[in-house]
Amino acid sequence: MRILQDSYWKSFEKWKNIDRDNWFNWKWQTANRIKSLEDLKSIVKWVDEREFYQVNTLFHFATTPYYLSLADITNPEDPILKQVIPSKQEIDEEYQKEAELDPFLEDIKSPVPGLTYRYPDRVLMRTTNVCSVYCRHCMRKRMFLEEERAKTKEEFEIMFEYIKKNKNIKEVLISGGDPLTLPNKKIDYILENLQYIDHIDVIRIGTRDVVVNPFRFFDENLLEILSKYDKIWIVTHFNHPNEITNYTKQAVKNILQTGIPVLNQTVLLKGVNDDKFLIEELMRDLLKVKIKPYYLFHCDPVKGVYHFKTGIDKGLEIMEHLRGRLSGIGIPTFALDLNGGLGKIPLLPEYIVEKGGKYIKFRNYENKEVIIKNL
Ligand code: SF4
Repeated sequence: MRILQDSYWKSFEKWKNIDRDNWFNWKWQTANRIKSLEDLKSIVKWVDEREFYQVNTLFHFATTPYYLSLADITNPEDPILKQVIPSKQEIDEEYQKEAELDPFLEDIKSPVPGLTYRYPDRVLMRTTNVCSVYCRHCMRKRMFLEEERAKTKEEFEIMFEYIKKNKNIKEVLISGGDPLTLPNKKIDYILENLQYIDHIDVIRIGTRDVVVNPFRFFDENLLEILSKYDKIWIVTHFNHPNEITNYTKQAVKNILQTGIPVLNQTVLLKGVNDDKFLIEELMRDLLKVKIKPYYLFHCDPVKGVYHFKTGIDKGLEIMEHLRGRLSGIGIPTFALDLNGGLGKIPLLPEYIVEKGGKYIKFRNYENKEVIIKNL
């Protein structure tokens, strides 16, 4: 975990006059998102103008000052910069030819606008297409093609009605975009409506603000709202140890005090985190700030994203490395989302060496073999 010193941001020329009250205020971070080439170049000097415009006209760009402040701005290979700065590979057909805009048919498997119903007991609710940061690897990158806007009250009412009528639905995933970019009042309205549907057991909020704008969870009013509802889980999205700071720790502590558990999904990204030692460090650092590693995803075949893909073998190699080195609570499930909306499948290295009629031969993480009766 990185310890950022008080007023560390003042070492950046652009932010040298920003005081603590502003820097630690999520609204200031949101209002001062870096969105233009001019703004970006005032911090990251080496950005290629032509490349930026070529990509940005299709897939837009934005980052919070905080997230950008975590990067080594002189290094084009920096893992944080790679996640936020547009790259020409995003629009290069050579890299993207096997990818699709919506490979999981989220927009097709959608009974009412904004809801995706892929699994019998769960729905995905897309509340907004706005995010604090536009991650270059976003699996919902098609939303970058739209204008930024949140769903209207009328659209929400239709989604709530659908969920109320379908008693098979036990869990709602509130996602986006990032739902934490919504104002507190709207978050309260969504949570209240879902909390009081009897057949809903779990309300899962997917947000990257824990990573890119942790000050969102310094907001007392938001924390009061979250603590009113007892069905919530938060799932966030850390991809690299450099993203975990003392401010992350404070944000997570604040969330945990509302009674909400925090889980993490990591996406395996070529050139960002495709290294077994780095993933081990990431999982250890997540545990230090009390975030439970949940999924490690193989990169999705999404247009504009596929240049980040690794081989599936890379994920298996990482899982092999983690087992035996890291406590079970730090080991995520490695998974692959199947095209056509067919769902996720977990992937594991093979631990069964041989299967006879009445026995199974296993190997452990050190390749020691043991035969167990299968009666
Ligand atoms: S915050 Fe989430 S939804 Fe938004 S761009 Fe990043 S990955 Fe996509």
